[in-house]
Amino acid sequence: MNFIVHYDIAALILTATILVHYYLKDRIYTKTSGMFRLLIWIHLVACLFDLGTAVMINNAGFLPNWLQYLLNVIYCIAVYGRTPIYLGYLVCVTKGINTKWDKRDHITVWGLLLIEMIIIVTTPVTGFVFSFDSAGQYHHGPMFDVLYGITIFYYLVAAVRTVKYRATLKKTQVTTVHIYTAMNIVAILVEMISNHFLVAQFVASLAILLIYFSLENPEDYSDKKLAVFNRDGLVLRLTGMVDKKKGFRIMGVPVQGLKYLNDTIGVDNNVLLLKEIAEFFCHIGGVKNVFHVSNFGFAIIYKNDVFAEDCLIDAIRQRFEKPFYLNNMEISLEAPMAVVHYPEDAETIENLIDLLDYAMNEAAHGEDHVIVRANEDLLNKKRREGQVLRAMKTALREQTFQVFYQPIYSVEEKRYTAAEALIRMPNTEIGFIGPDEFIPIAEKNGMILEIGEFVFRTVCEFMVKEQIWEKGIENIHVNLSVVQCMQEKLAQNFLDIMEGYELPCSRINLEVTETAAVVSSECLSANMNKLVANGVRFALDDYGTGFSNATSLIEYPYNTIKIDKGVVWAAMENENAMKVLTHSVAMIKSLDMNIVAEGVETLEQANELTNMGCDYFQGYYYSKPVNAEDFVSLLDKNCA
Ligand code: C2E
Ligand code: CA
Ligand code: CA
Repeated sequence: MNFIVHYDIAALILTATILVHYYLKDRIYTKTSGMFRLLIWIHLVACLFDLGTAVMINNAGFLPNWLQYLLNVIYCIAVYGRTPIYLGYLVCVTKGINTKWDKRDHITVWGLLLIEMIIIVTTPVTGFVFSFDSAGQYHHGPMFDVLYGITIFYYLVAAVRTVKYRATLKKTQVTTVHIYTAMNIVAILVEMISNHFLVAQFVASLAILLIYFSLENPEDYSDKKLAVFNRDGLVLRLTGMVDKKKGFRIMGVPVQGLKYLNDTIGVDNNVLLLKEIAEFFCHIGGVKNVFHVSNFGFAIIYKNDVFAEDCLIDAIRQRFEKPFYLNNMEISLEAPMAVVHYPEDAETIENLIDLLDYAMNEAAHGEDHVIVRANEDLLNKKRREGQVLRAMKTALREQTFQVFYQPIYSVEEKRYTAAEALIRMPNTEIGFIGPDEFIPIAEKNGMILEIGEFVFRTVCEFMVKEQIWEKGIENIHVNLSVVQCMQEKLAQNFLDIMEGYELPCSRINLEVTETAAVVSSECLSANMNKLVANGVRFALDDYGTGFSNATSLIEYPYNTIKIDKGVVWAAMENENAMKVLTHSVAMIKSLDMNIVAEGVETLEQANELTNMGCDYFQGYYYSKPVNAEDFVSLLDKNCA
């Protein structure tokens, strides 16, 4: 027999190149990538021994027979061990995050391999696969084609498994796996038909190259611009770590201050800044442990050790106390931190990531430099939020949300001339939940858009149905959340709804808080101008809380200012607070705006506020928020 070995030489070069490239790139080592590495290495051995044995067979008698047997046994182990390892690799890939193998997986992958190995290892005695005669000539044994058959069977199992689990893979990956299988089967058939033509290793090398680029490409889980791993990388890394069951900790840093810079220094410059931050994190945490997990958020995995944690916190604090520089511009950023421990705080990857996101969000919205730890309090808060969220979903699905109305009293007219619409959630499994609790949660996950539209529609429908203006109510106030104010289509959407109900725009007064005005200034302005042009009025809610400043009074076309109940109550208790309130009222009056005082609970408060110059009152002294029916009866008395 005379083997043609050129393809084997090419296969060897190609495989060595893949290996070098593989180890040169930063990558995350997991059980799946471990299988792939094993696949390349065993393939390299197969190429080497295919070449070696072929050359020796071509030169019969050059080596003693026992050595020929040994080399050929090694060659067969590598070649026939390769296919089960490929199937094992596919099992890992198709299992996704859940990498645990069950008994069936082990039997599928290793079962036939055992039979193959027995056949191969006993060959020097039995001559099952091959034999050498006394002249050193090579001969195929009776089981030679059986091994080919088993290999083809393995490939068919791989193809079936890929089809079965195709939903867990990308389309290109499914195609790659099928091409891999098909190429190998064709190569085996070619070798079976023309024995001396050794193409199988070369074709297998090409197939491995395909898999390498399509399934084992580190770019899929890297952030190329920042030269760190991305969120997928974190999932992958955690997969490997959780499997090992050894403790570790994750630090999440949602860098603050970059969001606003996007507008001023431009997105490209912002990327440069992010890169500098990423480099700093890599410097303290090691390149393989830093992940860019959200727009301005990073995560660092570190040792399960208090000392390591303290060092990390100190290093981050110290760096962010100093400014960053960009084109000679000094930029101050903040680094709130969130710490999650494995396995104490969460045991599965999903829960770990979920908790990390939650803690990072809490840290981002918390006070400066406070470290949020995933302790019992945080877990309880998160659990409660989950319950509230489910209650809201149920209320939306079953349409059980209600709108209550709290009348607003006019000092001049001595009757109710307006009302505020306030949402109520029916009693839930976990008891009563007030809007102060559920609205912020609805804002966090975007559900507020649906709830906000529901309230607005309900109010429009109610006003038209009751012809409420005939009962003395000139307009109804509807609260707008920050998230709604950031919707470009808000104005048009509301105008369409009012048109649908044939409700004049002047019957609606939208309440906006100062925070909304700060966060969504441009979008809010555009929405407001469009709505005001159509006759909708606006009120500034919760005046006197947060960072009130006079500019926001002038900047936006408000027609009414609502003084927060806290401010009203403080003034009744404290002389200085009273002075501030008196001056505020005078200032607002001088701007020709109406004033509604909230939280009026007693006649004394009402009298004092009247003397000060407030035009309208809202509070328990007049009425608590009541349902639509009660509100209408209240109004019947109002007009009588
Ligand atoms: P807010 O806009 O400041 O609404 C006034 C809150 O003060 C209401 O609480 C009202 O019941 C309460 N209140 C009024 N007068 C008195 C009083 O004399 N004494 C006391 N102790 N409280 C008084 P409520 O209904 O629990 O609403 C809480 C907050 O939830 C609202 O504060 C508002 O920010 C939000 N909210 C309620 N409904 C909606 C809605 O439909 N959409 C949005 N985005 N937010 C809403
Ligand atoms: Ca309000
Ligand atoms: Ca208010």
